[in-house]
Amino acid sequence: MIMYAGKLAEKAPTATIIQKPLHPYTQALVNSLPEVGVRYKDKKLAGIPGSPPSLLKPPTGCRFRARCPLAFAKCAEEPPFVKVDTDHSVACWKVPGTDA
Ligand code: SF4
Repeated sequence: MIMYAGKLAEKAPTATIIQKPLHPYTQALVNSLPEVGVRYKDKKLAGIPGSPPSLLKPPTGCRFRARCPLAFAKCAEEPPFVKVDTDHSVACWKVPGTDA
């Protein structure tokens, strides 16, 4: 399970999360992982621009939207947690199967 700012973003087996992440936060998270055998001086780790929201006053809608490169107007509403496969669910308006 991948959570962002206290909300479930994606749920799937580990191999799916690593090889086929669908949520933009999961994708950014996986892209920030170091690769075994690759030196930092050869390839710098990718970060996620911005900062997590305050959990004392969390934003409405998708909590990742201030940092999401795919954010659009609908993201001001909280996305439903949608089952996209037998063992794979995602909360993102951009994922096919979600009513955007
Ligand atoms: S719902 Fe919108 S802001 Fe949230 S991850 Fe999906 S595209 Fe990005």
